[in-house]
Amino acid sequence: MDSSCGVPIPYRIIALMQERNRLFAYPMEHLAGEIKATGFRCNCCGTCCSRTVNGHIFLLDHDVAEVKKIDPAAFEPAPDPEFCDQNGTMYVSGYALRMKNDIMGSCWFLENGRCRIYDQRFSVCRTYPHMLRRNCDESGEVTWLQFAQLNEHGRYEKNLPEEECILVAREVKEYENAFFTHQISFLETIHEYFTVHTLRHDQKMYDDQMLRFLHGGRIKIMVYHAGELKEHRITKEESSGCDPCRYGAPNRR
Ligand code: SF4
Ligand code: SF4
Repeated sequence: MDSSCGVPIPYRIIALMQERNRLFAYPMEHLAGEIKATGFRCNCCGTCCSRTVNGHIFLLDHDVAEVKKIDPAAFEPAPDPEFCDQNGTMYVSGYALRMKNDIMGSCWFLENGRCRIYDQRFSVCRTYPHMLRRNCDESGEVTWLQFAQLNEHGRYEKNLPEEECILVAREVKEYENAFFTHQISFLETIHEYFTVHTLRHDQKMYDDQMLRFLHGGRIKIMVYHAGELKEHRITKEESSGCDPCRYGAPNRR
């Protein structure tokens, strides 16, 4: 059973599990050392809270529970569904924060350049711009990425406290682990659901449905959340959806 990227789902699951194992093996002290070396401090400029920097802002399951309490209108199915079955139903892994339809594509909670729920902000909002993921460049060389846009935002200090760096390192590893675990569970669920219901990914149907959506049509989309697939019916008008032509930024996962 293939997915929209053409790789059979079981292989994708194995690859993600291997990535998660590498993440486990990465020494916490090393990451904390890298964080200390950058000396980064956020100055709350709010730039990363928009699509000019991040295509969408992914919510872990517990973040969704929190955002529901704060404002149920503030989240929506994550953009870029991964699968479409032969009947035209699309499937996506989780929810993202809703973005405003302003020129920057600002987060729903960004007001006058500031987060209006700062103390309650979500997992990825707390860890960004720190990260821990592997990247393969065009020559095939694999390196770890630990920071987004170094020296392009925030301020930099020489002596960040050790305890603070360890705390951030722990949060980053926990976030990345939770993200991998969510993705693995999503793929396992899709694999089982498709097998049980005799469904398959249909790339032609996927392309047709995306086109229909972009032209204002309503699509059925199943969102993987808290171990289940939840049904939504959405139009482009109702969703803040990702418009890569307009924003062209990577996703903040
Ligand atoms: S919730 Fe707050 S910190 Fe997170 S992206 Fe939105 S405005 Fe930024
Ligand atoms: S993480 Fe960087 S871009 Fe985001 S609010 Fe802080 S300083 Fe600005």
